[in-house]
Amino acid sequence: MNAATAWTEVASCPSSLENLFDTEEGRRLRTCIQCGTCAGTCPYGDTMDYPPRRMIALLRSGQIEKVFTSDSLLNCVACYACMAKCPRGIRLTDVLLPLMKEQTLARMPELPAELQKALQNTMRYGNPMGESSRKRALWLKTAGVPIRVLPEQPGPVDLLWFVECYSAYYARGQDIARATAKVFNALGLDFAVLGNEEKCAGECGRLTWEPGLYETLIDYNMAIFAKYSFKQIVTGCPHALNAFRLRYPSYGFRYETLSVCELLAQHLDRLKPLLKRKLDYTVTYHDSCCLGRRNSIFDEPRMLLKAIPGVKLVEMTHHHENAICCGGGGGGMWLDTYFKTKGHERLSERRAKEAVSAGADVLAIACDYEFSRFEDALKVLGHDKRMVVRDITELLAESMEA
Ligand code: SF4
Ligand code: SF4
Repeated sequence: MNAATAWTEVASCPSSLENLFDTEEGRRLRTCIQCGTCAGTCPYGDTMDYPPRRMIALLRSGQIEKVFTSDSLLNCVACYACMAKCPRGIRLTDVLLPLMKEQTLARMPELPAELQKALQNTMRYGNPMGESSRKRALWLKTAGVPIRVLPEQPGPVDLLWFVECYSAYYARGQDIARATAKVFNALGLDFAVLGNEEKCAGECGRLTWEPGLYETLIDYNMAIFAKYSFKQIVTGCPHALNAFRLRYPSYGFRYETLSVCELLAQHLDRLKPLLKRKLDYTVTYHDSCCLGRRNSIFDEPRMLLKAIPGVKLVEMTHHHENAICCGGGGGGMWLDTYFKTKGHERLSERRAKEAVSAGADVLAIACDYEFSRFEDALKVLGHDKRMVVRDITELLAESMEA
């Protein structure tokens, strides 16, 4: 992490480009030395007419409109690489890029269809897949362990587990949810879920910059949280973690929020004796951008993997702060078709190639977006027989089996 930055503080995000230079973050933009590190580190920098360095130059010279008529911002997958490397500590991904993206999207005659649909679904149903909100808790019936549902059993609880959309609805995501529930139960944690009352935390609404959608979801979720009594929130979704830690506080959110990896690492001494089964896997771990570069959660996932008997952990060429994004952030989850028509290499495929080159047979993840991205990438590359994608909680749960 760049020494000039302290990313754990809540970003005071200006709400518009107007008067940006009068804000603290805007004033920091003036310190840009035009070094080009942001453009050089951006995984799609070579596809952008206006990478962050050029955006700042145009912003400062009053010619920013040029950026909004190009598709540069659509290629930003909110990976935090530019922000992590900027020698001036400019919060590009937190502050500047969402504001620019908002303006770009507002001027586009129409959004790429997949993205448009995902945003509409999130507004209408509270999840990007367009699934019924009444089905959000269906997976609980297959959990295999008891899970308390707060709307059915209100009353104080230690941990509110915010499951999030991909773990609640997407088949492989539900595998993460079941594994997480199993590990929480084995540790005897006092936890509960919101069931059908939960809706998307809205982080991708913010990073594709749909502020109306994002604020609607914040209002909804804040009202739901206020109904119950809990000490902490835990979530396996790094995008929700980002939203709760960095954005919701501006709206009065005061709960401590942990990622599942952080929580389990805190209980490592009690977890280790439960990991009895040896797993003879060579595992490489993909650092999620939101967990890693944005929240500095690099060690905990690796501590958990190393605790599993038999697991050999190997690193890819790019790891920790230098990890390559899966391409799913900032709306990238719903832009694969768009990227394909533009002839861009999918970042998930770039990353999957690295994982295979590392000599691993398991690609371990800690983000529920990444199953679909990497399983699909491995299939496209013809490596799906050679490597499997497993969430860290799945590996822990497997090691707990007799
Ligand atoms: S890395 Fe930072 S200082 Fe360098 S050009 Fe980009 S924004 Fe400016
Ligand atoms: S956040 Fe990532 S994708 Fe977006 S401009 Fe920065 S480096 Fe490029």
